[in-house]
Amino acid sequence: MALEVTSATVRSILTRSSGYLKTVCSHSLQPYRGCSFGRCLCGVGCYVRHNPFVTRGAAWGSFLEVRENAAEAYLAGCDRERRWARARRGEFSVFMSSATDPFVPHEKRLGITRSVLMAMVDRPPDALIVQTHSHAVVDRVAELAALAPRCRLRVHISVESDRDRLPGLPPPASSVARRLDAAGRLRDAGLRVVVTVAPLLPIADPDDFFTRIAECADAVVIDHFVGGDGSPDGARTRRTALPAAMAAVDPASLRLDYRDEIVARALAIMPARVGVGMDGFAGRLLAGTSAGAAHGGPLPRRADC
Ligand code: SF4
Repeated sequence: MALEVTSATVRSILTRSSGYLKTVCSHSLQPYRGCSFGRCLCGVGCYVRHNPFVTRGAAWGSFLEVRENAAEAYLAGCDRERRWARARRGEFSVFMSSATDPFVPHEKRLGITRSVLMAMVDRPPDALIVQTHSHAVVDRVAELAALAPRCRLRVHISVESDRDRLPGLPPPASSVARRLDAAGRLRDAGLRVVVTVAPLLPIADPDDFFTRIAECADAVVIDHFVGGDGSPDGARTRRTALPAAMAAVDPASLRLDYRDEIVARALAIMPARVGVGMDGFAGRLLAGTSAGAAHGGPLPRRADC
């Protein structure tokens, strides 16, 4: 199936957040509509594939709309949205992106995300979370470094497991090794980096995985599709091929208590640097060590990072 690439101009680019994202940021921003990675591993369970406002009936991974005026639209709307956000949500915080990847392959040539980052250098939000599945985020390290002193910036890199493949599913857009390497390079540039293990897939060697993450990221966030995909009991994800592939590797990984076991292992290696679910995406990390969680007790208290 070919990728259909189209161009569009948009009236606005800052969407006031709702639902689960409301606890994370005041706004989301999508430089593209659709995602070139939709037919890669992350696209199988991607929550956006179920959103008819985004797909407009097209198969997920079959289309990419380039929002050519994304930077101009940001500049046109940011003052109004900043006023609204500070009055209603406490601060003007932007999540880029929740329904596409800001570093799809076309970004290298078209620079839409780059233009948005440069616009933000001129007129920064109070906080920005850049969320990606691609090592190509390092192509924009200069722009991110220019923006970092102007707002609270975090780069989230999704690495769902230490496995590159699950049986019967396509390969990832970017290997585990390349994404962890990208995290380290951004951190070396002085940026705050969070690895998001979301949705959590079966991990072959948790201690080794979190040791590698501890070396290249400031924090890790762990989220399970049960409770994390915006539907009761992970019903949305259960309609996809992802759970069967997870079960083929480790049936226990389908249960929410698998997440708690993994959180305990992560806390043992990265104390006070672990977040869970939407709290973690919002930057609220668990305090303390794994002692309680490791033995089935309540998860430790939270602390803002
Ligand atoms: S990169 Fe993100 S938006 Fe794109 S398919 Fe993967 S999970 Fe979905």
